[in-house]
Amino acid sequence: MTMAPPAGRSRWGDRLVGYPDDRAQRYRRSGVWTDRPLADRLQESVERFADRRAVVTDVASITYAELGVRTDQIAAGLLDLGLTPGDPVLFQSTNRMETVLAWYGCIKAGLVPVATLAAHRGHEIGHISRAVGAVGHVVEAGLSFDLVDFARDQSAGHPTLRAIFTIGATPTGEDAPGGVIAAIETLGADIAPASARERVVAVQAAIDPMDVVAFQLSGGTTGVPKVIPRLHVEYWDNALLYARRLQWDPETRVAHLIPIIHNAGISCGLHAAHSVGACLVLATADVGPAFRLMERERATDVLIGHGHYQAVAGPEFDRVAPHLRTIVLSGAKVSPELFARACGEHRWVGQLFGMSEGLFTVSPRSAPRGARLMTVGTPVAGDDEIRILDPGTESELADGSVGELCCRGPYTIRGYFDATEHNRSAFTSDGFYRTGDLAAMVDIDGVRYLSIEGRIKDLINRGGEKINAEEVEQLLVSHPGVANAAVVAMPDPRLGERTCAYLVSVDGTPLTMAQVQSHLDALGVAKFKWPERLEWLPALPQTNVGKIDKKRLRADVVAKLAPDAGPDVDGTATTASTAARSGT
Ligand code: AMP
Repeated sequence: MTMAPPAGRSRWGDRLVGYPDDRAQRYRRSGVWTDRPLADRLQESVERFADRRAVVTDVASITYAELGVRTDQIAAGLLDLGLTPGDPVLFQSTNRMETVLAWYGCIKAGLVPVATLAAHRGHEIGHISRAVGAVGHVVEAGLSFDLVDFARDQSAGHPTLRAIFTIGATPTGEDAPGGVIAAIETLGADIAPASARERVVAVQAAIDPMDVVAFQLSGGTTGVPKVIPRLHVEYWDNALLYARRLQWDPETRVAHLIPIIHNAGISCGLHAAHSVGACLVLATADVGPAFRLMERERATDVLIGHGHYQAVAGPEFDRVAPHLRTIVLSGAKVSPELFARACGEHRWVGQLFGMSEGLFTVSPRSAPRGARLMTVGTPVAGDDEIRILDPGTESELADGSVGELCCRGPYTIRGYFDATEHNRSAFTSDGFYRTGDLAAMVDIDGVRYLSIEGRIKDLINRGGEKINAEEVEQLLVSHPGVANAAVVAMPDPRLGERTCAYLVSVDGTPLTMAQVQSHLDALGVAKFKWPERLEWLPALPQTNVGKIDKKRLRADVVAKLAPDAGPDVDGTATTASTAARSGT
């Protein structure tokens, strides 16, 4: 079998894995790949839906025409500052209009957004920025942590970082160490729209559609997050498939509450809305203001991540319910009560299973209620292929049996970026991605639906943010007082899961929560990864093959958290103060 040349060969070389020729041809034939740069696709919508609203937030609103002009200008401004197509740009900003402008501005300039999070700190940013060779850094000012100062620190002595772009900051007139600092609000604002458009058209004409359009991050299963390259040829189409599955049109007003820069935000919110001329109602995770904005804007559709399942159950949901006609639930099992509450009298409710590596399954509009309640639907592309494998093997299991969900398709990656060794175990010999999720295919009225049944990968899903267990354990044992560590998920009514660390001390003296937190803080670890409960043991329990028995630890913390468990009798548990909880 021949392989298509690796995408973006010029800059990334063999750090990207190409698609085999036969599959590339198939995806082109079926129209699920489009050989055009993503900014051209956006431009089509800008021209077609010029006077319609493209994005609205609590404080700002922009039409498609205005979005087109302003992002052209930002792109031209970025090029004027000396950034060159292909340069990666880190994003640490929340759900604001300027985040959207910066995202499209970068893509129009041929730059490659890197979907880091506002909650990331030196441990994560230091690693990722070097892994991709980041050149620019978009940071939001005014958050509880000073990201502008942080960006200056990160660029000092960094091999490639040399430009900082601020959102919401007062310009100081100073430069970044060894580079430039500019505000997204004013960047390129004095460039004539026609000239900015010409510059963008010239950059886009030189883009290879097989090149990387954005880097997303994987929750991963080992060490620090892996980098996911998403390509021009597939990324916009992935979002369009989602919008079509939900039958969106220009009248749709789709609310998004979870981080817009995440793959779910980009593919199910931003790009999906703009691929069909819909309006993105860009809210934040804070339910009160988010629901007020949805009510004001009469949002018709919303994706509810499991961090917001409780909000649907609560009384505030009544404010937004009258206008909503579609609710998509995602991230965790859906109870019949939640489903019924979301449906109310007149709403369509379905589910989404998605991941930054690619595959999306969504309930089809026509699926019967039972299938929408019990399963996460069917893949959005006809070319998506799913196999349920006996874990650790390549043997396919029959429908109804639970095994590892493996997938291959037009918008599922063929390899992580620059990860030859890891890719060997992350994919089957014929290129199916091993998701680490446990699932079964179930037949309902002759249609095969996917049902998610658990996971093999060792991570904690804290309100949608994935926390890699091994990464946190390594950070914990780097404290001189900690001999051994195992972190597990503990159930949480709001976030779904939080992290509990089981620890063994070096000399029998447990550290306090404050000591553990200050250790992780000193290492620059994002707060959402900090354990929120500590349990000290003389030794960690082992399975009969000598591995740490995490199943037992999970059961232990569940039992301890049970309402009738009573207070801790041995005095070994320490729970976090709100400091750790405010980390996200
Ligand atoms: P991310 O790449 O951050 O979007 O995370 C993808 C992972 O989130 C999947 O591999 C699953 O482990 C989990 N996930 C996504 N959707 C669902 C769902 N509907 N039910 C259960 N887990 C989900």
